[in-house]
Amino acid sequence: MNETHRRHGRCLCGSVTIRATQVGSSVGACHCSMCRTWGGGPLLAVECGADAVIEGGDWITVYPSSEWAERAFCSRCGTHLFYRLKADGRLFLPPGLLENDPALTFDHQIFIDEKPAYYEFANETRNLTGAEVMASFSGEEA
Ligand SMILES: [Zn+2]
Ligand SMILES: [Zn+2]
Repeated sequence: MNETHRRHGRCLCGSVTIRATQVGSSVGACHCSMCRTWGGGPLLAVECGADAVIEGGDWITVYPSSEWAERAFCSRCGTHLFYRLKADGRLFLPPGLLENDPALTFDHQIFIDEKPAYYEFANETRNLTGAEVMASFSGEEA
């Protein structure tokens, strides 16, 4: 189990706030076509456990993007808030939302087989294909 940290975050307009106690230090990029459509580019995300407190009432819009996950955004400013796995409620936050940036390490990329050819990260990372990711979701212990 990786070390986790307590972090606060907020959206661009401040209507939505996030308090998370289990923010990991490992940042991943997802290159799948859904993430790239959602954000206009690859999604950077850090795992935040399942107990983050996200407040913002009606400004939080949750979109069920697939059978296994949902995505949320601030309906006032458009900031992407989180990606959440339906099965266990685990949240993944864009690290750019978090204050007090911990010692984050960009160390993995997923759906590398869906990455378009026009960009490439220079970081040395562990890269997984979409099929490898789906296998790890189903086999992983929570
Ligand atoms: Zn906002
Ligand atoms: Zn994705």
